[in-house]
Amino acid sequence: MVIFACKEPEWESRVVLTPDSAAKLVKLGLQVQVEAGIGASLFLPDESYRAAGAEVVADAAAALEGADVVLRLNPPPPYFIRSLRRGSLLISFLDPFLKPELVSALAETGVDSLCMELVPRSTYAQKMDALSSQASLAGYAATVLAADRIDKSLPMMSTPAGTIQPARVFVVGVGVAGLQAIATAKRLGARVSAYDTRPVVEEQVKSLGARFVKLGVQGGQTDQGYARELTEEELELQREQMLKVCAESDIVITTAQVFGRPAPRIITAKMVAAMRPGSVIVDLAASSGGNVEGTQPGKETVVNGVRIVGLTSFPSLVARDASQMYSNNVFSLIEHALDPETLQLRLDDPADEVISSTLLTRNGAVLHEGVRKTMEANA
Ligand code: NAD
Repeated sequence: MVIFACKEPEWESRVVLTPDSAAKLVKLGLQVQVEAGIGASLFLPDESYRAAGAEVVADAAAALEGADVVLRLNPPPPYFIRSLRRGSLLISFLDPFLKPELVSALAETGVDSLCMELVPRSTYAQKMDALSSQASLAGYAATVLAADRIDKSLPMMSTPAGTIQPARVFVVGVGVAGLQAIATAKRLGARVSAYDTRPVVEEQVKSLGARFVKLGVQGGQTDQGYARELTEEELELQREQMLKVCAESDIVITTAQVFGRPAPRIITAKMVAAMRPGSVIVDLAASSGGNVEGTQPGKETVVNGVRIVGLTSFPSLVARDASQMYSNNVFSLIEHALDPETLQLRLDDPADEVISSTLLTRNGAVLHEGVRKTMEANA
């Protein structure tokens, strides 16, 4: 079985496969090819992949035609899918709810796909869970970026020239990214509060030494642990009560997501206007629509003196670690599915919960019911 790892687009500093993971795949008995220059953004020379036992290929088009399994990190454009062989397997983030045209291209060309966003959030699948590995690094990177952009110190400082009050950091949405944002802000000495619609989160927030803000809006969660989407009335109530907390905060970090839906709009222009000039908002949900009114995806803007950071790839700020984590996740998924006798991937075992959840397209069909329904609704 030939596995081909592609180079990511110019703007991406993460890589899909590190030499360490390439070596582990080779050790399983698999033939690994990588696109020439794949590690350039991390200063990983082609030679480091050769030393790991991979073949470095300059002709990507030919490699795509020949590969049984193609690895990518960011969702590719639909035209890329048409360069893959019918019956080959793509493993990548695919953003299937927001990119129906990509899912259609996979089905139409008969390319099978394992969608990294669909790996179940179970204890068993943790080592394959790229949403978590990348979100955790994103939460860290967002907080460090906010600390860099804010015009004051995060810790309290008692100096002969006077006492500096600690920065107040407010984290909205306490999933994997939010928890890491809280932990990082606490380590930097800030006074941290946090809010989430899932009440189970309160204990986790407190255990990190932060204050849990109660707004009287409880959303509950699905059996996968994801937040339920709030009604417009509930969101309005939430916004009214959040104004005061935002006004008192130096830094607001938003991470709220509802699986399979655009991000909820939580921070309004009125809340932004209530913050003191010089304060900072970091919107981690910018790539799925943004939690903040005024976020411009991919940009930093200043509104009435409040800086709104809407970068779309926070894990790329810590690209070395993020690549290593993603690469480990993909390796674990392949190792999990691999039949050690035939060295082929087992994709059709209905008892395998990890693969049956993650398999998005197979033999021309879209298997994930939620994605199919979204596509039908958008058609
Ligand atoms: P996510 O990225 O889907 O959402 C981030 C947070 O936003 C969530 O905590 C969600 O409740 C919150 N949110 C949504 N709407 C909101 C609103 N209107 N206001 C405020 N907050 C809002 O979450 P995630 O980090 O992907 O985690 C999803 C779930 O999966 C969590 O329950 C997490 O604990 C669970 N999880 C489990 C495992 C495991 O067991 N192995 C691993 C990772 C995550």
